[in-house]
Amino acid sequence: MTVRTTASRATFSAPATPATAPKAKANAVAPRVAAASTALTAPPAGLGKGDSGAKVKQLQQGLVKLGYLTQAQMNTGTGSFGPATEAAVKKFQGDHKVPTTGYYGEQTAAALKKALAKPTTTPPPTQPGKFTKPAVISAPSPNCDSRNGADIDTIVLHHTGTNNGAGDMAWMRNPDSKVSANYMLDRDGKIYQLVGDSKRAWHAGKSELHGVPTDVNARSIGIEIVNDGSGKTAFTDAQYKALTQLVGYLKQEYKVPANNILGHKDVAVPKGRKDDPAANFDWARLRKGIGG
Ligand SMILES: [Zn+2]
Repeated sequence: MTVRTTASRATFSAPATPATAPKAKANAVAPRVAAASTALTAPPAGLGKGDSGAKVKQLQQGLVKLGYLTQAQMNTGTGSFGPATEAAVKKFQGDHKVPTTGYYGEQTAAALKKALAKPTTTPPPTQPGKFTKPAVISAPSPNCDSRNGADIDTIVLHHTGTNNGAGDMAWMRNPDSKVSANYMLDRDGKIYQLVGDSKRAWHAGKSELHGVPTDVNARSIGIEIVNDGSGKTAFTDAQYKALTQLVGYLKQEYKVPANNILGHKDVAVPKGRKDDPAANFDWARLRKGIGG
C-alpha cells in the first residue's frame, strides 16, 4: 500500500509587481498588505530624505512588511529615501506615538524594531470564492464506479463510527467492505482522497435529497470524518479547519448550493437510519467558515 502526497498546500500569494510600476503618489495611503513572514529587522537609526543605500532599502522592506509602503513604491527606487518613504515613515510614526518628523531616528528605529518582531497575522481564507483545493494524501479505494453522467451538486458529511483513522481507511480501501468516500478526514486534520471527484463513491446507501428519492452517491461528494459519532467525542479543531477548506473548495468548484451541503442523517432512507455527522457537530462553525 503506497500512500503518497499530492497537490500542494493552498497559498494566497500576491502577484509580483513589475519594477516598471507607475510611480505612486507620495501621500497615497499604503494598503495593509499581509506580507510573508520572512525575518526582517529594523536598520540602525539615522536615515532621512535624500539618503540612499542598503539601509534605506532595509527600512523600506520593513515598512512594506508592515503595510506602510507598497512593493511598487519600493521598487521605484533603488533604496533611496524619497517622498513616498518619508510619508510612510510619518504614517508609521503617527501610529506608534512617535513625533511625525519623517526622519528615521532613534525613537522610530526602536518602534520599528518592536513592530517587526511581532508576528503578522494572515487573514484566514474564509471568503466565499477564495478557496483553493487543500493538500490531500492519495489513498485510492477500489470501491467506486461511474457517476453515469450525473453532475456533482451535493456534499454529504459522515462520521466513520470509530476514532481510529487508520482502521477506517483500511476498511474503506478493502474491496470486501463495498464502502468508501471521496475523502476521509482524520483526527489530525489530514485529508485522504480515496475516490477521485469524478467517480461515484459508495457512502450514502439508500437515500433521498430534500424528500425526493435519488442516487445521492452519483451526484455527491462524500466526506467521512473520523469520529465515533457518539455525540460525545469532539470533532477536532484541525478537522474543522481542514473541513472548511475542503468543503469551501468543493462548494465553489462544483457550485453546490448551500442547502445541498448535508449530513448523511439528512439524506438516509428510511428517516432515522443514520445520524451522521453527529449530534455535537458544529454546523454553524462550518457554514460560517465557508461563507454560507
Ligand atoms: Zn454515513
